[in-house]
Amino acid sequence: MSQNERKIANPAHKLIITAAITGSRNLRDISPYIPYSPAEIVQSSLECWRAGASLVHIHVRDPQTGLGTQEADLFRQVVEPLRAQTDLVLCLTTSGIAGRNLPVQDRLASLELEPDLASFDAGSINLGKGVFSNPPDFLDQAAAQMLAKGVKPEIEIFDSGMIVTALRMRDQGKLREPLYFQFVLGTPWGAPATPKSLLHLYDMIPDDAAWSVIGVGKGHLPMSIMALAMGGHIRVGLEDNIYYQQGVLAQSNAQFVERIVRLSQEYGREIASPQEAREILGLRKI
Ligand code: ZN
Repeated sequence: MSQNERKIANPAHKLIITAAITGSRNLRDISPYIPYSPAEIVQSSLECWRAGASLVHIHVRDPQTGLGTQEADLFRQVVEPLRAQTDLVLCLTTSGIAGRNLPVQDRLASLELEPDLASFDAGSINLGKGVFSNPPDFLDQAAAQMLAKGVKPEIEIFDSGMIVTALRMRDQGKLREPLYFQFVLGTPWGAPATPKSLLHLYDMIPDDAAWSVIGVGKGHLPMSIMALAMGGHIRVGLEDNIYYQQGVLAQSNAQFVERIVRLSQEYGREIASPQEAREILGLRKI
């Protein structure tokens, strides 16, 4: 397939909807609908799965304070019921609380559960008044452990230099193709959620790479529509977005999934089942 052919939207290419259930930063002071406890995270994931999400991106929180944590036992309380009750593709975070920079082994504790995917933030970036730190040594350790455990990195890209880093790590044999990128656009510190910005990043990734996009805040729908038309995949959820529309809080993650399903049906692009998502992403468990 030539570079130009890749650019033509292919309606036969099924759409993977990822639901990012809770994240670790937004607390209930800004939205009462954010899941905190493992049971709430499981419940919200089930609703998203039933609505058409094939993949969930999971953080866990201290059920009392709501603060993000990398405690393996809390991840287990989410992962085990989801594995028992669904065929969802599971992506566990390695970021902990972005900007608080937990010790490396804490951040990688989620890999013990051998999820299908784990987030891999391919560089450091300012975040609020701090820095979300992903130095080369952390990336090397994360990549090595993911490779050893058969966990596919979901390469999160906040800016173009992170693609440069990921491609260099591929050339060094630390990341294996086909790569899977998640573009995180519209944070106040990284690449903006604009069509030009998305196209620029898209042009930098290999032809055989799969990609998905997060439009943070008001970038959510514009970036989702771009991905729909360009053959990319879409991430939604309360981690990235607390508003369903201007001034109206989303009351559940499933609400976002349902909207993307409707848009995709109108557009004529089918939704990928979890099994189809595994095939599209080249995951080990098929
Ligand atoms: Zn996350």
